Amino acid sequence: MRCGHTIHLGCLKELCLHSHFACPVCSKTSSDMSHIWASLDREVAATVMPEELRNKVVWIICNDCGVYNEVCVHIIAQKCSSSNSYNTR
Ligand SMILES: [Zn+2]
Ligand SMILES: [Zn+2]
Repeated sequence: MRCGHTIHLGCLKELCLHSHFACPVCSKTSSDMSHIWASLDREVAATVMPEELRNKVVWIICNDCGVYNEVCVHIIAQKCSSSNSYNTR
């Protein structure tokens, strides 16, 4: 995998079939997700948050780069401002 971990090809295909695109060991994305992140960018931009939540911030950690970010909370997803990944928690 891109992160350096090794799994069976059959297991990787099974993960992709179930829309799991992260390494089961380290949680980093296992393939190029730029088209998915672009789609999430559009979805986030199109989804207006309720007034009472617009200025709320949350701390997230990025599974891809390991950086902590303070970002505006959003119902769709939280984006890492360091790597632009949505693979965050
Ligand atoms: Zn890994
Ligand atoms: Zn990141």
